[in-house]
Amino acid sequence: MTRHIIIIAEQIDGKITPVTHELVAAASLLRHHTGLDIVLVTTGSESAKNARALSDKYGLDVVIVNNIHPEYPVEMRLRSLPAALFNDLNPAYVILAHSTQGLDIAPALAVKIDASCITGVEKIISANGSIGFTRSLFSDRIIQTIISRAQATVLTIAPGAFKPEHFPAPEPRTAGDISYIDPDETLLDYQHIGFETQSGDTGELNQAEVIVSAGNGIREKENLNLISELAKLFPKSAVAGSRPVCDRKWLEYNRQVGVTGATVRPKLYIACGISGASQHISGMRDARFIVAINTDPHAAIFNISDVCVVEDLTRFIPHFITTCHDSG
Ligand code: FAD
Repeated sequence: MTRHIIIIAEQIDGKITPVTHELVAAASLLRHHTGLDIVLVTTGSESAKNARALSDKYGLDVVIVNNIHPEYPVEMRLRSLPAALFNDLNPAYVILAHSTQGLDIAPALAVKIDASCITGVEKIISANGSIGFTRSLFSDRIIQTIISRAQATVLTIAPGAFKPEHFPAPEPRTAGDISYIDPDETLLDYQHIGFETQSGDTGELNQAEVIVSAGNGIREKENLNLISELAKLFPKSAVAGSRPVCDRKWLEYNRQVGVTGATVRPKLYIACGISGASQHISGMRDARFIVAINTDPHAAIFNISDVCVVEDLTRFIPHFITTCHDSG
């Protein structure tokens, strides 16, 4: 039976998100190595228009899973993808985004279709007839390459790792086929209470020319004062943070930089006590000049930094501020 590469489109508020183009890029590379055809799967009539646009652009076949449970979040609907879909398409690979949504679905899907699951894939390489999937471990300090021996493999693709412009899109045919299918499970054992949306105004970060960003390395909320004082040295500056700092409610979520936060491109980004996990880096790697302060000389953030300060931030920042003030 013909095997396929299935892309499960990332969807928010009924719209297919731009990261889906990165999934197409990753799938194209897999197709290049394996010769398998790609099928894009999405759910709900809301996303049908977007799905058609993708189908036209890339010549992909698209399967739309009918939305018989519009009240449920998309994660739940995608978890109830019908068995017939997988029986018909016989996937060798299923590709999702390495996002909150993708991670919610991928492991459960792997169990459902008896596949292996490799998360956070940053590179796909082909050697001696095998396909290797590369991912970072321990805050990007170790690079691991995995070869899947399973019949099918579910992959989550790290944000920013596969830029659409760097990979050949599947050859556009006139347009792909669009087909519809019903989900085969009811979700009655699940009660959806509601959504809570975080305030998303990242305007100040987008306007700032200098961003001073606090990571877990600040250790105590009081040390945010140091970050603010450092920011005050620069006009048009703003304070931001990594996710753990926002999770602790030391900063609002609209200050979080990274894949689930803001993407920023300031002239100067000062990362204070930030390890450099890929989820953070994808939100700030396009800053024009990056300075990182970290006690660990092997911290991954130094790999993308223009200036690396190996020092305790509680010693370095006060010293730097005093020196600036003394020199006028
Ligand atoms: P840590 O990784 O704990 O690093 C702290 C660093 O501080 C270390 O390198 C340490 O050496 C250094 N340090 C300690 N003490 C000092 C000191 N006194 N002086 C100087 N340096 C010191 N993270 C984000 O930031 N943004 C996101 O949008 C985001 N989205 C995510 C989405 C998903 C789906 C997942 C799974 C994760 C996401 N994360 C995100 C979390 C991410 O994986 C990391 O856990 C997080 O970025 C780590 O934050 P950190 O670097 O501040 O903390």
